Amino acid sequence: MNYNNKANEINKNFDSFDREHLWHPYTSTINPLPTYKVNRAEGCRIYLEDGTELIDGMSSWWCAVHGYNHPILNKAIEEQLKSMSHIMFGGFTHQPAIDLGKLLLNILPNEMEHIFYADSGSVAVEVAMKMTVQYQHSQGHNKKTNFVTIRSGYHGDTWNAMSVCDPITGMHSLFGTSLPIRFFAPSPISKFGKEWNPSDITPLEDIMEKHSQEIAGLILEPIVQGAGGMNFYHPQYLKEAYNLCKKHNIVIIFDEIATGFGRTGKLFAYEHAGIVPDIMCIGKALTGGYMTFSAVATNEKIANGISSASPGVFMHGPTFMGNPLACAVAKASIELLLASNWEEKVKNIEEQMKSELSEVSTLHNVADVRILGAIGVIEMKKDIDMAYLQNRFVEEGIWVRPFGKLVYIMPPFIITKEELNKLTSSLIKIIKELK
Ligand code: PMP
Repeated sequence: MNYNNKANEINKNFDSFDREHLWHPYTSTINPLPTYKVNRAEGCRIYLEDGTELIDGMSSWWCAVHGYNHPILNKAIEEQLKSMSHIMFGGFTHQPAIDLGKLLLNILPNEMEHIFYADSGSVAVEVAMKMTVQYQHSQGHNKKTNFVTIRSGYHGDTWNAMSVCDPITGMHSLFGTSLPIRFFAPSPISKFGKEWNPSDITPLEDIMEKHSQEIAGLILEPIVQGAGGMNFYHPQYLKEAYNLCKKHNIVIIFDEIATGFGRTGKLFAYEHAGIVPDIMCIGKALTGGYMTFSAVATNEKIANGISSASPGVFMHGPTFMGNPLACAVAKASIELLLASNWEEKVKNIEEQMKSELSEVSTLHNVADVRILGAIGVIEMKKDIDMAYLQNRFVEEGIWVRPFGKLVYIMPPFIITKEELNKLTSSLIKIIKELK
C-alpha cells in the first residue's frame, strides 16, 4: 500500500480524477495500482504526459502488431468515417463487412465457411460456446450442454468465458456456484519443441470417455496458453484432442484470440499442429489494436446444423455487430500484415529474444525462460511485486506489465533490433536487481 502511494507521488503523470473515479483492469478503488498518463503513441513508442518515452513490450495485450498511429490504419478509418461509422447489421450489410469476410476466408482454414462478427474476444468465446450448444441441440443431443477444457487456460471475463478459465488462477472461487461447472483436464506437460509424452492426453481421454453424453464442446487456446500461465505446449496434444472430439462427437473450438495473426510464428497457431477445429475465435490483433472487434468462424457442418433445426437461426446479435469502422480497419490491418514480411520479422524477434534473454535462466530467482515467435516469457520462482516492477520498468524507459510469476514481452512486429535490445537489456538489468 505504501509503495503504491509512493509510486503515485513520484509519478508526475498521476491524475487524481483517474485514481478516484476510474476503475482500471483488475484494480481496487481504495488502493489502485499506479497508472501512467499517456499522451500519444507512435510506432513502438509510448509517450507519457511528463515527456517520458517508453519502448512498448506489450503491443497493448497482443493487439498492436503494427505499432501505434499507423498511417495506413488511420487512413482506413478516416475513409470509412466519410461514409458511415456504424449501421445496424440486422437487415443491412455493407462493403467493409463483405471485404473483410472475403479476406478472412482466404486466410482461415479452407473448412471455414461462415463468419460471425462480434464485439470483443470474450463475446467471441460466448458466441462460440452458444454455437456449440445450439449445434448439439440441432443434432438431437439435448443433454450435450457442458464443456471440457484444460487448466491454465484463459478465455475472457464474461460469464461463460470465465467458466472455462483456469479454476485456480481464474475466478471460480470468488463466483462459486454462480458459474457453470465445467470439466477440466490438466494442462499438457509436454512442451512445445520438446518430446511428446503420450500419457499427456490420458486425463482428457478419461473425461471424454466418462462424460461424452454431457459434453458439447472442447475449448482450447492452441499451442500458447496466454493469460492463464503463458505455457507453450506440444502440438501433438491438439492432434490427440481432435481425434477424441471426433470419436465422442464433441465440437472442438480453438480460441486464437491471442495467438492469431502471426504472434507464434504461424499466421494462426492451429497451423503448428496442422489440424482444423470446428470453430475458431479471433480478435485482438484483428484490427491491429485499433478497436475492439472479434470474429467467430465455423464450418458448414456446424452452421448448417444450427440453421436446419428449430428455431432455424443462430440466437445471437450484438448491437455493434459488423461495425463498419472496425471492419475497415481490420481489412487494412490484415492486408498490411500480409504485405509485410511478418514471418521474417517474427523469426528475427524470436531469435534476438532467444540470444538476449537466455542469460537470465541461470539466475537463482528465475524458474524458466521460454520464447516462441514474438512472445518472450521469464517465469520467476515467486510472485513479483507488480507495482514495484512496473515503476522500475517505466524508470528504465520500457513498457512491460508482469503478472503473478510472469514477466513477459510481446512487442509490436515493427520493433527495431535496437529497440528490442533496449527492451531485453533493461528487463535483464531489473530482474538482476531483484533478490
Ligand atoms: N481469449 C483469449 C485467449 C485472450 O487472451 C483474451 C484476452 N486476453 C480473450 C479471450 C478475451 O478477449 P477480450 O479481452 O477482448 O474480451
